[in-house]
Parts: sequence; C-alpha cells; structure tokens
Amino acid sequence: MTKQNVVVSDADSQIMNMAISVAVSNSSIFSAAAEKPPMAPGGYISISRKRLMNLKNLDIINGGERLTSWVDSMKASSPTHIQSSPCLVKGQSSWMLQHPSALDTFDKIIEVSQGKQIVMFLDYDGTLSPIVEDPDRAFMSDSMRKTVKQLARCFPTAIVSGRCRDKVYKFVRLAELYYAGSHGMDIKGPAKGSKYKKGSQGVLCQPASEFLPMIDEVYKLLVEKTKSTPGAKVENNKFCLSVHFRCVDEKKWSELASQVRSVLKEYPQLRLSQGRKVLEIRPTIKWDKGKALEFLLESLGYANCNDVFPVYIGDDRTDEDAFKVLRDRGQGFGILVSKIPKETSATYSLQEPAEVMDFLQRLVEWKRQAVRSQAML
Ligand SMILES: [Mg+2]
Repeated sequence: MTKQNVVVSDADSQIMNMAISVAVSNSSIFSAAAEKPPMAPGGYISISRKRLMNLKNLDIINGGERLTSWVDSMKASSPTHIQSSPCLVKGQSSWMLQHPSALDTFDKIIEVSQGKQIVMFLDYDGTLSPIVEDPDRAFMSDSMRKTVKQLARCFPTAIVSGRCRDKVYKFVRLAELYYAGSHGMDIKGPAKGSKYKKGSQGVLCQPASEFLPMIDEVYKLLVEKTKSTPGAKVENNKFCLSVHFRCVDEKKWSELASQVRSVLKEYPQLRLSQGRKVLEIRPTIKWDKGKALEFLLESLGYANCNDVFPVYIGDDRTDEDAFKVLRDRGQGFGILVSKIPKETSATYSLQEPAEVMDFLQRLVEWKRQAVRSQAML
C-alpha cells in the first residue's frame, strides 16, 4: 500500500510535527525509492487537519511510534529533490506571493510597526548560522555577531534555539541577549549590558527540570543504539535531545529512525518531532518556542500591551509554534528562513542567513535614523 506523506498546515504544538501517512493504493511506501510521493506545487501535499480526520485508513505518527514516513517526508522535501521538480518554479512564485521576502517588503513592515516596541526573537541554526555537516561547528560569522550586537542595542533581543542554552551561548557570545535554549525550556535573561533587562539576571524559567534524569538516561541509550549508523550524532541539549542525521546516508535513514523509535517506545513521557536534518526528542509538557516567546514578552512587561511588535525569525518546524503564537495574538509576525516553499504560519520569508543579516542591518539602520530624527525635533 503506497502512502503519501502529508504535512499538516495547522500548527497546533502537539500535532504540528506529526507526519501523517494516508493509504492510497496497494504497495509499500518503504519498498522502493521510486515510490516517493508526488508533490504538490509547494513541495508538500497540504490538507486541513479537519479533512484529514475524516479520511479513512489514517495512521498518525507521534510519540516515537512510527517514524519511517517522516524520513520519507524528509527525502521528499530535501532541497536536491525539490529543486529538480518542474512543479517548484510555479509553486515557488505563488508561495512567494503568500510569504513575500521580508527584504522586499521592509518599508511596509516598518510602517505597520510604527509607534510600537519591536522585540526580536531569533532562532540560531539555519537562521544566524548556516546548516553545516558537523553541528558542533555551526559557527556564526563575526559580521553576523556584530549585527546581532547592534540589533540588541536597538531592541530587546532573544535567541530561541533547540540547542542547550550554554552551547548556543558559546556560539553567539553576546551577554546582552536573552537566551531560550532546549526549545525554550531553559530561559535566562541578559547577563549584562542590556538596557531592557528587568532585574532578573538568573535563570528565568526551566519548566522541564523534572525531566533531567530521564533525558540523561535516554541520551545514553540513544548514543549506544545509534552508534552502528555512520554519521548519526546524538546531542544532549539538557532538557531535550537531538539526533542529527546531516551526515547519514539516505539509505540509512530508515534504520536510524527505527533505532530512535525502539528507544522511545519505553518513554511515553517524551515526544519526537523532525526538524531540518534532525530528530528532536522533548518532554511532552505543553511548552515550546511559542510558549517561550510569550514568557519572554511577559518578562519584558509586554504581556497585555497593544504597542508591542514581536518579530520571530526561524527556519525550523519547531519555530512554527512561535509563528502561530504571533498569528493568534495578531501582533508582529514570523519570518521563515527557507529557499523552498514550506507550509508555515510565518508571514514573510528570507532565503538564508545572509538575507537574515541584511534584514537585521536594515532594522538597525532604520532605528538609528529614527532616533536621529527624533533628536533633531
Ligand atoms: Mg533552526
């Protein structure tokens, strides 16, 4: 039976990261590479969750129960696969109409933010730094660091990453920022040098601390279990785990997925989702990057303000939780960093970290100009 992989456009934090396989004929999805699902113009087949729930023969995959079709979904959405599709050119232009470049629409963005306090939220991997083969070497450039430093002088700025907070801090090395590591489950205010600091210099929030022993235990099991898959790398992000498959041969993805699945079968308190060339394992608590964004806005004193304008820039499925929070609040907007069309709750797009830097530099320039104009009045 062939199954098509479907990306759910609804970004509910519990359901968003599920891949859903729909039975459509009589052969096996996993039997041959030639049976990759056909693509919609946007690179995915997209249908609403309500419609999905009405479909028969539906397998919903989460909690580590079935992962193989995620791997297939990853193949189908990989840049090399999509770039070769003639459907993409047409799909890309319509997608760009729905999610225009934040650089091209910069003036409009500034216009709608007038009179409001901009607050910046930045993912790290794939947003401030390029995706590289070795996740330990995902360094950001000096020019990007300088830009983020200037940005933090103009606006409250937070880094929101799936990485362990200490590790992302070692990459960014700017004490004046807020940091939300472990997908927002480990939040700390600026150590120094931020005019936006609200008194708290210690840890602001660690909602998953009770999961620490379990995460350590599963980390050891995953290291042991995946060591037979060349290129697989398990990263301990303190409150969550990442299994990177950036360097895993395409033919070995299914094997790696079942290795991870077999470990997680014993831990229903942990859930599994797929990011860009990474499998993420997180506690099942209702906490994600979107919750971290809300927590940080509250910490900054903007919980019930109409004059705040949060901007979240990220490239990953886990960033969708934050994009959706902004859509639901009707405040600010999300910017998806992607070269290919993807289902997203972000309003705008940027193609790569270099464009993110351009956008941030334009924000800094605009703010400096606005301050100068104000001073002359
Ligand atoms: Mg990322």
